[in-house]
Amino acid sequence: MAANVSGQAPVPRLEVRGIKKAFGQNVVLKGIDLSVRAGEVVALIGGNGAGKSTLMKIIMGIYTCDAGEILLDGKVARLGKPAASLAAGIYLVPQEPLLFPNMTVLENILMGFSENESELKKRLSRHMEELGVTLSLQRKANTLSIAEQQLVELLRGMMRNAQVLILDEPTSALTFGEVQALFKVVQDLKRKGIAIIYITHRLTEVFEIATSVAIMRDGLITLEGPVENFTKEMLIQGLLPGGAEVQQQGKRAYEPVRYDALEPVLKVRNLSGYGFSDISFDLYPGEILGIAGVVGAGRTELISTIFGRDKTLGGTVTLAGRDITGLPTSRILKEGINFVPEDRHYHGLFKIRSISSNTTSALLNTREIGRVNMNRRRQKEIAGKYVDDFRTKIVSLEDLIGSLSGGNQQKVVIARALSTKPKVVILDEPTRGIDAAARGDVYSIIRQLKDAGVAVLMVSSDIEEVVELADRAVTVFKGRINGEFSREEITQDVLTSASFGIVQERTV
Ligand code: ADP
Ligand code: MG
Repeated sequence: MAANVSGQAPVPRLEVRGIKKAFGQNVVLKGIDLSVRAGEVVALIGGNGAGKSTLMKIIMGIYTCDAGEILLDGKVARLGKPAASLAAGIYLVPQEPLLFPNMTVLENILMGFSENESELKKRLSRHMEELGVTLSLQRKANTLSIAEQQLVELLRGMMRNAQVLILDEPTSALTFGEVQALFKVVQDLKRKGIAIIYITHRLTEVFEIATSVAIMRDGLITLEGPVENFTKEMLIQGLLPGGAEVQQQGKRAYEPVRYDALEPVLKVRNLSGYGFSDISFDLYPGEILGIAGVVGAGRTELISTIFGRDKTLGGTVTLAGRDITGLPTSRILKEGINFVPEDRHYHGLFKIRSISSNTTSALLNTREIGRVNMNRRRQKEIAGKYVDDFRTKIVSLEDLIGSLSGGNQQKVVIARALSTKPKVVILDEPTRGIDAAARGDVYSIIRQLKDAGVAVLMVSSDIEEVVELADRAVTVFKGRINGEFSREEITQDVLTSASFGIVQERTV
């Protein structure tokens, strides 16, 4: 940290002192002290539901705190409204992007600016160049993937010349190339003296980008200091609940699938649709098939076509011997395929409904229940069982789903998919935006599915995730499958190159 002439560390650009916040019974922040100086990148890490996003929303004026104060350049600031925080030069790129869905990218970015539009556009294209973003400004926000939405949010922040920039898990939906581009921008902003708070669940990123690190646990900052003072193991240890020991990640514990003894449950033949063509693969019971590739390769379109959401333009899909090509989603659900979408925000959950009715809502679509109003007690019973099984962190089943952190929301969505007892579950980016601890829980849920004989089709841009979980993987490049890899062949290298169109020579 740079010292000023008098030999003392400069006054932090942003400092929070004694911040407290409770949601009803749930005390989330118990007195948080944190500061960030100009040119510093503070990495904030902590378990899912630790309160990181809540603290950032308080700084951004989206939530008010119950106690504590916020200082800017050493002076107590009167924030409490987003407009005040924006005016003070603070900008938050939120974990769940909040764009206006029916407006274009350009309209979303330039909203709230009063300067001359052609000047603004010039600045914007400069920022896009720096970021290496090639996004059509005329696209409607509701056609963007999460990664693209986050890039739009980031561009908005850059356009505002923010002096304090907060990035809430920005990389969880980005591809390798996009992450590298983002890091370049962050380095650049750091050099320009911007103060940055960087929330992440990827510990390697902490060492790549941060100047200091803070761990949040049980509503407090439990560990803090310059990154040089820590190793990755120390951070993992610091993230675990008090007393827990670091577990060595063992080898995959379960038996590999024995394909020779099995009939595929799902057969996809020469399937074509919008954004992909001529795709063929089999999926076996008890198998996790990873579909890797970069954002925009056509994977989301592929699975939403299989699920009956998008139009089939050619080819066939057979489920347990029955032709289900082109059926509507309601029929596909009854036939035994369920889907956990990438975008929890728009497709996954009814934010204004309770945890228990969200868990059981899929049952309303199936023949088994078929009633419009499910008995509330039965609802609670089913939801309660999944909450226990999945170790979902909740206060009450009647709480609104929107009050849960990302990892816990995801568990509810997976529970909902399972409650229909499907033969095939399709997961789209199952751990996007979920921290290390909850990620482990979601992985064990996925393995439980496999052990129960469910066939899992998993789309993931997180190559490590595919390496960790998949029995077999295919890579999709520009709308076509360009590689298929057995368990033994799957490595991070091979999948990454194939995702970018480079299929390596096999040495078998
Ligand atoms: P993190 O970002 O560290 O994963 P969050 O700040 O999202 O954690 O959540 C912290 C806790 O606050 C969670 O238990 C969550 O359920 C609760 N929470 C967050 N926002 C709300 C809200 N609007 N209403 C009620 N509870 C909330
Ligand atoms: Mg969060």
